[in-house]
Amino acid sequence: MKVTSIEIIETLKKAGHEAYWAGGCVRDMLLGIQPKDFDIVTSAKPDEIERLIKRTIPIGKKFGVVLAIQNNHTFEIATFRSDSGYSDGRRPDAIEFTDAKKDAMRRDFTINAMFYDPLEDKIIDYVGGQKDMEDKLIRFIGNAEERIKEDHLRILRAVRFKNNFGMQYHPETYRWICKHVKLIKKISAERIQDELNKIISGKNAGKAFEELFETGILNLIIPELCKLKGLAQPLQYHQEGDVWDHTVKALDALTDEAMDPDPLPAKEPSIALRWAILLHDIGKYDTFSIDRKRIRYDQHAEVGADISKKILTRLKFPKKTVDMVEWLVRHHMMMMPLVKMADHRKRHWFLMPGFEDLLEVYRTDALGTNPTDLSLYEEIKKEYRHEIAKLKLMPKQLIKGEDIMKLLNIKAGKKIGKILADIREKQLSNKLKNKKETRKYVLDKYKK
Ligand code: ATP
Ligand code: MG
Repeated sequence: MKVTSIEIIETLKKAGHEAYWAGGCVRDMLLGIQPKDFDIVTSAKPDEIERLIKRTIPIGKKFGVVLAIQNNHTFEIATFRSDSGYSDGRRPDAIEFTDAKKDAMRRDFTINAMFYDPLEDKIIDYVGGQKDMEDKLIRFIGNAEERIKEDHLRILRAVRFKNNFGMQYHPETYRWICKHVKLIKKISAERIQDELNKIISGKNAGKAFEELFETGILNLIIPELCKLKGLAQPLQYHQEGDVWDHTVKALDALTDEAMDPDPLPAKEPSIALRWAILLHDIGKYDTFSIDRKRIRYDQHAEVGADISKKILTRLKFPKKTVDMVEWLVRHHMMMMPLVKMADHRKRHWFLMPGFEDLLEVYRTDALGTNPTDLSLYEEIKKEYRHEIAKLKLMPKQLIKGEDIMKLLNIKAGKKIGKILADIREKQLSNKLKNKKETRKYVLDKYKK
């Protein structure tokens, strides 16, 4: 990808244009992080870019952005531009093609506004980005208040970059963020969701959420979470602090240092898993009670699942993510009863698509608790591995989804999944042994 983007820059330069890497990738390079993408800026106008580069898509030609496709990678190539006026606090009303310096000035933070010429190994820095990188400062380019008023999402971007990169706020940055948090209400749910996903997936997510709380941002976007602050827990089980402290600690258990050294099939934690950890105890505020001097939260998982669904729907998450988080929160107290279940019931749970994530919610929940006890987690993980290894050798499925649809004359849907799970369980407990028996069972039990 890197090499290809250098080739594009070479092509543009040979035709007499200025061309550089810009923004995020230059910052990441200086931080020693692998950039996600290599955005290119150039003095060439969109028509000229299209003429010089073989395969392009005019994704945002109006804004001076052309997408180049080369060697199976895509690159954004943007003409130097300045923005004039942001009447909706989001997108510029109009753009104007300008020079490199003005293009740097329209960007949000100094660390995000550097250019780099990979052919000459030269950084082009009009905004003091290199110095702020050294001092680890998140500083708005120009007047902080004006920049926040132009695009309010920059409030959340500041929190993200500061925590993600372990930096600090320039005093002006923090001051004007705090002053204008209310503008967050004007940003669309989709943009907030996207930025929160980046915050929750980045380094120092726990600290970032602490700051979202302290600045008052959280109260404007997920007020339900703020109720966990100061919410008491039974001291004999929870010495880490209140429910909020516990939640933050659980979230931090997904960081590299706190990862399980022997994880279940190693994979990057999903967005649903991260949100489930953040929201797992969200039901505790509404279910708090004191019974014979003991603090209880009866049904907090079920209540929490409903609240989680409401929050994520409001933030416009895809239905698949909402359903998964809802399921994880609803069942996050399952591990204790699960160890006592009969083998076939256990297997039924092990085969659920979200089981590995559910176990991970349990692990982070335990790590967020002081004193920490991971013995149950280790026990279940071992059993799960053992069973899954066995199940791989298991006899084939007794019936397929399509056959059930034909037998019952119904369309694809959740019901099929439920019937398949039911049959799987009967098969595991030896109550169904062959195809004939299974077809009869399906007809007897499910045919209306
Ligand atoms: P990452 O891709 O790692 O999330 P990034 O800094 O590359 O971070 P992008 O959203 O990819 O962020 O944007 C690329 C560049 O465009 C940024 O580095 C910045 O210079 C500029 N930019 C992005 N969003 C804004 C904004 N809201 N206001 C001003 N400039 C922005
Ligand atoms: Mg980027």
